[in-house]
Amino acid sequence: MKALVAVKRVVDANVKVRVKPDNSAVDLTNVKMSINPFCEIAVEEAVRLKEKGTVSEIVVVSIGPKEAQEQIRSAMALGADRGILVESSEDLGALEVAKILKGVVEQEQPQLILLGKQAIDDDSNQVGQMLAALLNAGQATFASEVKVDGDKVQVTREIDGGLQTVELALPAIITTDLRLNEPRYAALPNIMKARKKPLDVKAPADFGVNATTKLKTIKVEPPAERKAGVQVKSVDELVEKLKNEAKVI
Ligand code: AMP
Repeated sequence: MKALVAVKRVVDANVKVRVKPDNSAVDLTNVKMSINPFCEIAVEEAVRLKEKGTVSEIVVVSIGPKEAQEQIRSAMALGADRGILVESSEDLGALEVAKILKGVVEQEQPQLILLGKQAIDDDSNQVGQMLAALLNAGQATFASEVKVDGDKVQVTREIDGGLQTVELALPAIITTDLRLNEPRYAALPNIMKARKKPLDVKAPADFGVNATTKLKTIKVEPPAERKAGVQVKSVDELVEKLKNEAKVI
């Protein structure tokens, strides 16, 4: 069984992002970039399924600039077998990414297609759903457990107030939630081995996709600064301030 995992290159989750002075975008100069954390969980799940003998090959795909090869290599160091970079310097929208992924799926014919539930840079939460619609395939979003059983997969999903288990016929799209697993750290020998694994470079046009998005970012703003807090000396003072200054009680 072949698994295809889509990984996005994003600003590392520990970086405090800065907005460009003209508010046009986040400033990416000298910023540490990593695999989107939910995509890392998707890679980990594929690797665990390979270790169990369910999956035989893991292909990782990323769409983005040349530097996204770094994230593909990181996924290979975690256990993916080969990579595909669909190189584009365009500011891609979710639909363009989904259309390119559709082309990759048609070429690679994987049974399991794993994505993160969302990319932490634009919090879009759309690509998995769009891909499922374009492929006319089943989808299970927000997965917290994945059990492959023959030509079916059972997925437990995190929904408001509880869990829901669904069964899908393969090939199917699964998007990962935080509690699905805890990704491993790449061991040094595996980082070295990853350098030699095959990585194909393609272009959006190879899949018949025009990567120019119809989505225009109008403005990017940092969150409002929090005012400095005050320390109170007693519970009485706290209650007094909540009553008379904050007027919340
Ligand atoms: P989004 O819908 O943009 O929040 O992203 C959801 C998931 O789609 C991500 O976790 C990735 O698995 C996949 N994805 C989004 N953008 C890309 C990209 N440029 N390259 C590869 N996968 C992507």
